[in-house]
Amino acid sequence: MFTGCFPTKLQWKNIVNSAINLDEKHQKEERMRSDNDFTRFLRLSENNGYDFIWQYAKYTGRLRTAKHVAKLWSTPPTSGNCNLCGHFVQDTLYHQIRMCTELQTQRHLLYKRLSEMTSDNFLYTLLSKSDEYVSCFLLGNHEALLDFLTPEHCLDVLNEGFSYLKYCRL
Ligand SMILES: [Zn+2]
Repeated sequence: MFTGCFPTKLQWKNIVNSAINLDEKHQKEERMRSDNDFTRFLRLSENNGYDFIWQYAKYTGRLRTAKHVAKLWSTPPTSGNCNLCGHFVQDTLYHQIRMCTELQTQRHLLYKRLSEMTSDNFLYTLLSKSDEYVSCFLLGNHEALLDFLTPEHCLDVLNEGFSYLKYCRL
């Protein structure tokens, strides 16, 4: 076009595609930055890449678990009555993961398994963090604690976390 020649059909298609793709990409990024709905999703996917959960499903064959965890990831933070204990809480997911009395037995089992798998020191370090931090960890964001985890522990820890998350109901 700049040379005075009209582009071929294929060239034109490429020009339009790249212009649209770029614009769509910007719009997506802008919306994810400004929209509250994506807060949790962004935090979780920050270090893992968006396809992390699908890699897990592919690798382990646990499609239903992956789908459930993906739902927990993508549900915007909500306050309201907990579906398990009925109390009014600020953030339903964080509450169910850290505090909910209905999940006390499962939570103790999770902590026991995690400390057997890694060390008491690891569990102590993890539990001294905020509710949000521990929740993100169980949901699969291991980045900040990788120094404490050996690579062979990662999948086991992920499986334990996901097994616990199966009890969460949003
Ligand atoms: Zn509850």
